[in-house]
Amino acid sequence: MAVPKRKTSPSKRNMRRSHHALTPASFQECPNCGELKLPHNLCQACGHYNGREIVSTEA
Ligand SMILES: [Zn+2]
Repeated sequence: MAVPKRKTSPSKRNMRRSHHALTPASFQECPNCGELKLPHNLCQACGHYNGREIVSTEA
């Protein structure tokens, strides 16, 4: 098995990890009820998407 010849320096290790940052989740306001929802996803509060009700929220 190939093995690294030298220990990776803290600088090189941190350069590699410079792409590992997480981005915060984005939210949009639902145009129907104003709740925050994930973009391109059904509204969890009212069940609307693209201006119409997809899932009925009444029990
Ligand atoms: Zn909604």
